Amino acid sequence: MFNKITNRIYYRPAEPYTDRPNVGLVTGEKYSLLFEAGNSAENVKKLKAELSEQGLPYPDFVAVSHWHWDHSFGLHAWDSVKIAGRKTNEKLLEVSRWKWDDASMAKRIENKDDIVFCSEMIKREYPDRNKICIVGADIVFDGILSIDLGGTVCELIHSKGPHSEDSVICYVPSEKVLFLGDSNCKDLYGKPWDFDIEHEEEFLDNIAAIPYDKELVEEYLAILDTLDFDYCISGHAGVLSRKELYDSFGE
Ligand SMILES: [Zn+2]
Repeated sequence: MFNKITNRIYYRPAEPYTDRPNVGLVTGEKYSLLFEAGNSAENVKKLKAELSEQGLPYPDFVAVSHWHWDHSFGLHAWDSVKIAGRKTNEKLLEVSRWKWDDASMAKRIENKDDIVFCSEMIKREYPDRNKICIVGADIVFDGILSIDLGGTVCELIHSKGPHSEDSVICYVPSEKVLFLGDSNCKDLYGKPWDFDIEHEEEFLDNIAAIPYDKELVEEYLAILDTLDFDYCISGHAGVLSRKELYDSFGE
């Protein structure tokens, strides 16, 4: 179910079992935009059913926050206009050529092109990995893309940040709401950490032990400092106040 945050904004909470992310919906008088595509056609099917059941608009635009599979692999299943930042799109086109048999997936972990956590979650979300389909966007942008949805303006901003250098955030000034994607999270691809699917209870502790790149956090917060928002929604956690987000980076 999509939860209402303001009259113009909703979000569909994450489903951790197969790492499905939070999905945001920004509605205007003319158009609506979904922020995050979901991680599979099955995920998208459920999102479409919920939108329809709740009488919410089918999105005219679907924008992804960054290239990681859980945010982008559902993109092909939307017949909406697809939007991504340039770096995200370049990576999606590269990943669209990846193979998904066990040996190819294991090789990518060995080469550090992918990580154990994502590999395990992909196997869980896709009992049939032949169904994996990755597509690029219809609209690709650098810097900032501003979309007037009719009475609601949505700004997609290439924020970078500590998680992934292609990260894009979705800012809705009139509602003082900011969708972060995973931009505020740690770098799960670049920093070493362990994931064991037999011990999922250790997942949060393992993530907590990964250090932030302080320089990247500073650059990132310098961008967020310029935005007037009261609440933000990150990729997999609940709604945070501005203060809670800033406090989460520690000293
Ligand atoms: Zn991510």
